[in-house]
Amino acid sequence: TDLAKIRNFSIVAHIDHGKSTLADRLIQETGTVEDRDMKAQLLDSMDIERERGITIKANTVRIDYKADDGETYVLNLIDTPGHVDFAYEVSRSMRAVEGSLLVVDSTQGVEAQTLANVYHAMEADHEIVPVLNKIDLPASDCDRVAEQIEDVIGIEATGAIQVSAKTGQGIHETLEAIVNELPAPKGTRDAPLKAMLVDSWYDAYLGVIVLVRIMDGVLKKGERIKMLSNGSTHHVDRIGVFRPAMAVIDELGPGEIGFLTASIKQVRDTRVGDTITHEKKGTDDALPGFKPAQPVVFCGLFPVDSSEFEDLRDAIDKLALNDASFSFEMETSAALGFGFRCGFLGLLHLEVIRDRVEREYDIELITTAPSVVYHIYMRDETMIELHNPADMPDLTHVDHLEEPRIKATILVPDEYLGDVLKLCQDRRGIQLDLTYAGSRAMAVYDLPLNEVVFDFYDRLKSVTKGYASFDYQLTGYQTDNLVKMSVLVNDEPVDALSMMVHRDRAEARGRAMVEKLKDLIPRHMFKIPIQAAIGGKVIARETLSAMRKDVTAKCYGGDATRKKKLLEKQKKGKKKMRQFGKVDIPQEAFISALKMD
Ligand code: GDP
Ligand code: MG
Repeated sequence: TDLAKIRNFSIVAHIDHGKSTLADRLIQETGTVEDRDMKAQLLDSMDIERERGITIKANTVRIDYKADDGETYVLNLIDTPGHVDFAYEVSRSMRAVEGSLLVVDSTQGVEAQTLANVYHAMEADHEIVPVLNKIDLPASDCDRVAEQIEDVIGIEATGAIQVSAKTGQGIHETLEAIVNELPAPKGTRDAPLKAMLVDSWYDAYLGVIVLVRIMDGVLKKGERIKMLSNGSTHHVDRIGVFRPAMAVIDELGPGEIGFLTASIKQVRDTRVGDTITHEKKGTDDALPGFKPAQPVVFCGLFPVDSSEFEDLRDAIDKLALNDASFSFEMETSAALGFGFRCGFLGLLHLEVIRDRVEREYDIELITTAPSVVYHIYMRDETMIELHNPADMPDLTHVDHLEEPRIKATILVPDEYLGDVLKLCQDRRGIQLDLTYAGSRAMAVYDLPLNEVVFDFYDRLKSVTKGYASFDYQLTGYQTDNLVKMSVLVNDEPVDALSMMVHRDRAEARGRAMVEKLKDLIPRHMFKIPIQAAIGGKVIARETLSAMRKDVTAKCYGGDATRKKKLLEKQKKGKKKMRQFGKVDIPQEAFISALKMD
């Protein structure tokens, strides 16, 4: 295709502002899909995405559009993942296109996520076309929202296109703006092949499908390609585009976006942001900004029913096949038995994987408290990355600890600002900025990630009745007074309940934990001390008093079948118990104790 006739773009929007609906409309308006084949939200493929209204995997579509100038243009839309956990993926897909539609719900306004993604677009030097959506709704206020876009984002928005992705109003204007306002891609056909790996996913029939943007050169079926990050080579057996169904074509030239398959077995072998070239006469010049995915949040996943461990292994293997940023290794816990220590890009990523295991593979899970990655500097000047509080080395060898910090941006209606500032303060936050745009405030905080992974989202939602929006990025590591808090039941440490906390917050956390456990652990024939401790020092303590009477006493001399039934019942109950020394702790106790509230 002639470069001048190509337009590559993405859509930037906060969740629910209408990104998917608008994409569907663009596809429908251009006749890319027959009306009768038009299912709602063509671009969101996974169930979880649909239910949660978020896009996890980037999708893409190629649209042919006959513009008012009489020419036919090829429009490539890349649908970027819409969540903070996938910031790196978003930044890469932005580099693959030249422009963005900035979609803002005209009944709502700019949200934190809109901002984060628009910054990615600006960093990628995009031409940005503002689109005010949902103008069919009575609450729509285009003037106010346009002004807000100018104030907060700093781009001209008075002439913003007014759209209803629901009724189709403004869709034609949007297509014309894409053609007239976004630049055509640049690239050289005769140069060595240079393509960006934008995304990849596993397909049961075709193996790994790789989404690429050709920067220079031409990619053809049957050629041998090389990944610059690791030098691996592959034979290209298929090339195509999404319309949005897969359509095979012969070649992809500069400026084009499409897919290739090359008998690649695992998504892990393909890395977002990598440079693809020809094996022979290729380029050595890698695209800037490539970095391998780094998990930032870790937690243990254990089957509630220990006999399902092999099923869990199977489920996790399959999910990892399609998700290069999800890592795992086997873990054994005295409390929870066999399971896996898993690494995620963030909390949402964790939730998505956990939900899929439970739902698609029907395995009930115990999830241990999420932990960030700590850097532990030892006295011998080595550094250890700590993924699991249970692995904390002996303190006599430790020099100091560092924890990851984030820059968080929170947008909130004025009336809730006080509560939000208090929440951030409570979580050891340092205010970096506080500004106003209309009736909304924007607070920027430097926060420890560890305070955010516990229950920050939930607290933020509850103190603002759901009106706050939140986004963050990792900024680096910083030293602080961090300690490992252990929990002891009847003087036995329970590994699954240990956690890293800030020294100043340890008492409160410890107290909450022992109080909770006191209610969750059933009484035994003897007194049970429940303690939270730092090193050898107890910081909180409760005592579960002994049971008064022996329940089995009732059985003695009773009729045989009743006795048998009772024993069977006890046996069944046992299965769901874990033993700690002399104490049985029911599975539910762990589930509830690890829930943060
Ligand atoms: P996304 O999260 O940005 O992809 O948003 P969706 O496209 O899933 O839209 C979120 C919700 O808003 C859905 O219930 C849509 O039906 C609805 N919606 C999207 N565009 C419009 C619009 O122009 N008008 C109205 N009334 N509803 C819309
Ligand atoms: Mg969507």
